[in-house]
Amino acid sequence: MNTKILKINDNSLKLSKNLILNEELVAIPTETVYGLGGLATSDLAVKKIFEAKGRPNDNPLIVHVHKDYDLTKLVHVDFSYVYDLINAYMPGPLTLVMRHKGFVSRSVTCGLDTLAVRIPDHEGCQQFLRYVDVPIAAPSANVSKHTSPVTAEHVYNDLNGKIEVILDGGKCSGGIESTVLDVTKPVPVILRSGLVTAEMIKRVVGACEYVQNTGSEVVRSPGMKYVHYTPKCKTALFERNELPLAQELYDKILSKGKVPVFLCDDKVSHKLCGEKLLLGISGEEIASNLYDKLLEGEKIADVLIAIKIDTGSEVDIGVMNRLSKACKPFNENEDY
Ligand code: AMP
Ligand code: MG
Repeated sequence: MNTKILKINDNSLKLSKNLILNEELVAIPTETVYGLGGLATSDLAVKKIFEAKGRPNDNPLIVHVHKDYDLTKLVHVDFSYVYDLINAYMPGPLTLVMRHKGFVSRSVTCGLDTLAVRIPDHEGCQQFLRYVDVPIAAPSANVSKHTSPVTAEHVYNDLNGKIEVILDGGKCSGGIESTVLDVTKPVPVILRSGLVTAEMIKRVVGACEYVQNTGSEVVRSPGMKYVHYTPKCKTALFERNELPLAQELYDKILSKGKVPVFLCDDKVSHKLCGEKLLLGISGEEIASNLYDKLLEGEKIADVLIAIKIDTGSEVDIGVMNRLSKACKPFNENEDY
């Protein structure tokens, strides 16, 4: 199969709708990362998503709908604060986990009694979702464990030959996956951090908690136990107060004839000497650049030397969650 990258227009939307209704997959842009979309009510389409990604079959998928879709077809809204959240942040990078009504394939939820639902805030994606007018199950459009794609070209590099169409909606502006929020309890619980932060949720609901990734709480967020986001090159992650050690590693790798590259924010860059991939200054800017720079890094570097970020923004929590999974902590016994 030859994978085509298509601009979003009447022709590509028509083709995509045909593919989706025939239980085939289409990669779609969103404001967070690109998604690998399939008909959420079809066991076969959902099976194809898991196969194309090599995704573990106990990691449930998020279902995407357009902004006028009636969510109550899919899920029960148990608390009135859920409507306040929908009004405030949807469309947007917020996924709500709610008790489902059995409308979508059981393989979407991996047998859980809850379903994760999102309304993406991306013009091209909304056009697609409105055109197909069915719920679309879509995890990130990358091979499992690899860094998530934020351009159509990134998707192509991972899934060429496995899907027919990638809808090209430009570079994703948000850059990290949505905040996943469990709203089945009187107080909402963040299962995965993202650009809709705990403070933003508290402002609307009055309270918000983080899931404890220990003991029985782990099962509330199945995806969080897996390796994620890893670039194909070696990595070493340093604390912000370990810059001399990071520089030492850079110089050592260079002296072996290999290519080290720093991955850091603009604030620490002047304290490091060598090739750098700069992430930006603000939390949002760093989130937006993170996967793009990791994917650029794996192409040019033998070892990516990353420095933890700390902008003081709440968005740092989501960014550091990704960065610390993408890059291994520096280990003095490793042969870089
Ligand atoms: P991905 O689509 O790869 O960005 O991952 C989706 C995330 O949503 C994973 O972390 C899943 O564990 C989480 N998720 C999806 N459905 C549910 C659900 N019903 N309950 C809890 N977490 C969910
Ligand atoms: Mg993913």
